[in-house]
Amino acid sequence: MPTPPIPTRTPNIHPAGLNVPRIGDDGFEELCHLVTDEDPDTALCGKDVTGYPWNPPWPSCEACLAVSRGEMN
Ligand SMILES: [Zn+2]
Repeated sequence: MPTPPIPTRTPNIHPAGLNVPRIGDDGFEELCHLVTDEDPDTALCGKDVTGYPWNPPWPSCEACLAVSRGEMN
């Protein structure tokens, strides 16, 4: 008597991965970049953030954090 095939389970994970920031409805990467008072339209990581929301409730940009840490030292 043949055994029934074992069903293969596909992990319920988004194929794009978990560390990729989502793009919001308004087209912004949902990352909270850091800016300086001298250049509030350019993030510390170099991204043009003109028109970005101010203090959005999104995860902080790791690149901006790294730059800010470097400037603090
Ligand atoms: Zn950034």
